[in-house]
Amino acid sequence: MQPSEAVRVVIVGGSVGGLTAAHELRAVGAEAAVYERSAGRMEARGAGIVMQPEVEALLVRLGMSARAVSVDLWERQQLHLHGRATRYEAPQLMTAWDTLYQALRESLTGVCYRLDSVLRRVRVEGSDVTAEFADGYTTQGHFLVGADGIGSATRRLLDPAARPSYAGYVAWRGLEPESALPSDLLELLTGRFTFFGSDGLQMLCYLVPGPDGELTQGFRRVNWVWYMNVPERDLRRLLASRSGKPYTTFLPPGEMLPETAAELAATADASLPPQFAQLVRCSDVFMQPVFDLAPHRMVADHAALIGDAAGTVRPHTASGTSKAFADAAGLAAALGGWTPGQDLPTGRLADWERERLLHLVALSRAGIDLANRSSLGTADSRRFFVSA
Ligand SMILES: Cc1cc2nc3c(=O)[nH]c(=O)nc-3n(C[C@H](O)[C@H](O)[C@H](O)COP(=O)(O)OP(=O)(O)OC[C@H]3O[C@@H](n4cnc5c(N)ncnc54)[C@H](O)[C@@H]3O)c2cc1C
Repeated sequence: MQPSEAVRVVIVGGSVGGLTAAHELRAVGAEAAVYERSAGRMEARGAGIVMQPEVEALLVRLGMSARAVSVDLWERQQLHLHGRATRYEAPQLMTAWDTLYQALRESLTGVCYRLDSVLRRVRVEGSDVTAEFADGYTTQGHFLVGADGIGSATRRLLDPAARPSYAGYVAWRGLEPESALPSDLLELLTGRFTFFGSDGLQMLCYLVPGPDGELTQGFRRVNWVWYMNVPERDLRRLLASRSGKPYTTFLPPGEMLPETAAELAATADASLPPQFAQLVRCSDVFMQPVFDLAPHRMVADHAALIGDAAGTVRPHTASGTSKAFADAAGLAAALGGWTPGQDLPTGRLADWERERLLHLVALSRAGIDLANRSSLGTADSRRFFVSA
């Protein structure tokens, strides 16, 4: 008897969701290949990531521990505009997008990972899926996974009606070497999840591994996020870049206009505790507007969406990454045992979609509740960067 042909899966998007899908699909005997839009070094979109059980479970299966890729925290502290910080014990592990990316990529030996591959078209003919890329390259498989994030080209092809909508606030972010910070500020932030909130804004900060996964003192990075209500009509101005490149969902480090940086520093001095204002002034700030993408569908003929491509959750749940991991694990389980000569396991895929959409809806609601409680994205709260 001929051994059955392995299922070939084309994965579009090579960030944490796409890499996890490749690992999970390989574990069930599929042949996965990953196609990533970036031409060279991947832009770190999410900087700090709170370690969650789904991520830990995959790392353990790949022979790593969560601790080996994380910085340990022992306390939470709330800063106040004037006065001393309030502290309480809260142990937690913090990692970073690029640390996870490296861990997942290095352990994916023998799997095709093609850069500079911008998906343009998907064709399904019989049981074959063909993906066409902007450089003219095409590839064929039996199934396609769209792990191409919030601006997903795969989703636009499968479900043209779905569109992300602006949530009413942005995240200014920083990711600085700890060695670049004044020693008293670093001492205050080390080992702690530090936060501050007031009308229309919230800021948080914690240490994460260094750019090459370093965990030793002196080589880690300080990660911070400052959420702030900003009117939609002012987004364009804030996303304007030094290089003149058009950005819509992410303004990378080094691209902020000097006038935006000056306005941000002045806002920091006027509305943050002095330690956080100092941190903003020390940083090469980058920015992500926060978007909602209502969950709609995740499965189409011979294709599925996972991670942010399927639907986003507000960052306050700290679970965008772990959701992508669990989407990938469940999808691989649904496709496990399927061989190309057989009909698609549509029943198992439908069960997977139902379960993941329920989870996504619950997470989305929880994220919106958390944002509302912090007056983020709410109509009656304070807004910043309002142009005349
Ligand atoms: C401010 C903020 C803070 C966050 N904080 C956290 C946190 O603390 N913890 C957490 O778990 N999550 C956090 N998240 C969410 C997290 O960043 C995402 O949920 C997670 O990165 C999703 O991974 P993904 O692989 O689905 O998508 P992405 O990481 O967006 O990756 C999509 C990939 O697809 C590629 N791509 C796009 N289009 C194409 C195309 N046409 N062809 C080929 N490739 C393409 C992109 O280049 C990219 O590499 C945060 C998000 C924001 C906005």
